[in-house]
Amino acid sequence: MGVMTITWQDIYDYLRCPKILAFKVAGLRTRIKPRPPSPTIEPYVIGRVGEQVVETLLPPLTSPESDLSIAEEALSATEEGAPLREDVAREMTRTLFRIRSDLKERLLKKLESVQIQVTDKTVKTLLEKAVAGVQVAALKMRERYGELELLGRAEAKAPLLPSWLEPDFAFKPVDSETTIVVEVKNKAKIGPQDRFQASFYATLGRLGGIAVKEHFTLEEASLVPRALVKTPSSCVLLNVRDGTVMEMPGVEGIISFLRDVWEAKQLGLLGKQPEAERGDFCSRCRWKRLCSHFSTSGPPTATLDELAKPYPLIMAEWMLEHGKNLDLLWWNEYVSSLLHEVVHPYRRMFAEELRKARERGLSPPEALELELYVYEQLRTKVLSKIADHLGLDEQELQTLKSQSAMLTRKDIEAMCRDFKHEFEKWRGIMELLGHDPIKRRYGTIDLFNPWLNRGSVRKYGTLPRESDKLVSEAWKWWESKT
Ligand code: SF4
Repeated sequence: MGVMTITWQDIYDYLRCPKILAFKVAGLRTRIKPRPPSPTIEPYVIGRVGEQVVETLLPPLTSPESDLSIAEEALSATEEGAPLREDVAREMTRTLFRIRSDLKERLLKKLESVQIQVTDKTVKTLLEKAVAGVQVAALKMRERYGELELLGRAEAKAPLLPSWLEPDFAFKPVDSETTIVVEVKNKAKIGPQDRFQASFYATLGRLGGIAVKEHFTLEEASLVPRALVKTPSSCVLLNVRDGTVMEMPGVEGIISFLRDVWEAKQLGLLGKQPEAERGDFCSRCRWKRLCSHFSTSGPPTATLDELAKPYPLIMAEWMLEHGKNLDLLWWNEYVSSLLHEVVHPYRRMFAEELRKARERGLSPPEALELELYVYEQLRTKVLSKIADHLGLDEQELQTLKSQSAMLTRKDIEAMCRDFKHEFEKWRGIMELLGHDPIKRRYGTIDLFNPWLNRGSVRKYGTLPRESDKLVSEAWKWWESKT
């Protein structure tokens, strides 16, 4: 649970009851859950199998040429919401791979690249179910959207909340310009939390934007990311285990209760609980022990007239007011990760040459100087190529080269001076964080140190394009509410 952000779990808890959200933020617990027995297969392997199957098989299976009659038969022979029978799943997988050995080869290669052993019996059964499930899902999605093209992995964010999530994939129907965000599950059954999570992705896309980091259209990832600002997309929840496809709309009216969610979180941090009416849910609620309606031993009830604005938003607004290019902050990290990938093999080659030169008599200081020089040259050359490919202009390139898109310590000092009144609002919370029970949960007041939080600006407030628009709109909204 992010202290300075609003996550989908926060909204989910708030909608159950604002008090529950405050209790959770305060680190309070209803009971200690017994540790579950170790799973026979790690959850991340289950998730990875589902993702790889969808990434590799869904686009080709939605093509008009793809024969999905076996999926149609399986669907009509299976009761609504029931899983596919194991023998049916095995037969569907065998049939597909007999006809499309190219897809089998591609999928196995993908799984190997993420170190998943398909020789393991449990993984094999899991894979068969997923391959059968994706055929059913492809049938449903082709009927609804037509042929799909994979755009890539996505990053959804809205500085207004502020929130950040990574949906599994972004697809595009071949015949339309819309974007479909897809969250993949590989579970026995989809639950209410899964549905809510997908709805929240759709909400982020509508309120903020989505950055598609990798573009897979030409099989290989291309370097050009996309920015989709205020996209009206919904989010498709796809359970690959049984082929469930649900189109989830955004969470309705989120703006109308956003301030109350934030207030409940801040009250939780202050060790208090908000007012909330009793409802039908109360009879089943596990938090009665702390709730003011049922007990006097819980945190005191309170309201807040003045709220502290989201921390990353304060920092992003300062950057905007001081002419910092927020888009470049996004690009800076993206280009750095590419640089590392591209330059690394050359560095290794050069290290080998350098070793030989040292054997021939090059001194260690000379070798170090040469290494730094060559790396700098290499970095500049690759950076120019990447910037050219991405379409960044000369000024943007120079800023990236000089790293001046980054926040410096001097910037942070100026930010703390200029926005003292905004940071001051966190003071009460900071001071209280020194006390139990919150200290036990969050440890230290350094949690609110702007220098340590500089990464959060990029995370919550930037996109490849139009970050300034998102941040200034979010700032105006919070100005009117705090
Ligand atoms: S008992 Fe009712 S009012 Fe109290 S925390 Fe639970 S849901 Fe909220």
